Amino acid sequence: MADVFTKKKRSAIMARIRGKGTSPERLVAKLLKAMGYKIQRHRKNLPGSPDIVLPLQKTALFLNGCFWHAHVGCARAKLPTSNVAFWTQKITGNAARDKRQYRLLKKAGWKVIVLWTCQKTDAIRLAGRLKRSGVPAPV
Ligand SMILES: [Zn+2]
Repeated sequence: MADVFTKKKRSAIMARIRGKGTSPERLVAKLLKAMGYKIQRHRKNLPGSPDIVLPLQKTALFLNGCFWHAHVGCARAKLPTSNVAFWTQKITGNAARDKRQYRLLKKAGWKVIVLWTCQKTDAIRLAGRLKRSGVPAPV
């Protein structure tokens, strides 16, 4: 299929979809701040460069797109029906890399929380998730 967008327009669109500060991430950051947590974004010096970090609670949050990170059992993670081999390899590669990064973080004493873009997030759900993961309350 021919690309109907100019190169510039296309990269603007992709940046909006995949770039920093996409809206689910902004929402979670906002909620965490409202809950009283100190947050850091895009810590490149940590494995997997977590989207949001709670430095005082040593907790790393990842906001994963269902397709790119292979959300198991999720309708949004369904692979395209063409180029199956390519997509299978690409997506399973991503998921394997994710697992490696999470393992490295955990080994270094971090809690890892993965949120999926198909999941609704609000303050109550997020607080419940943090509690279940054993993340201490903000100080
Ligand atoms: Zn999903």
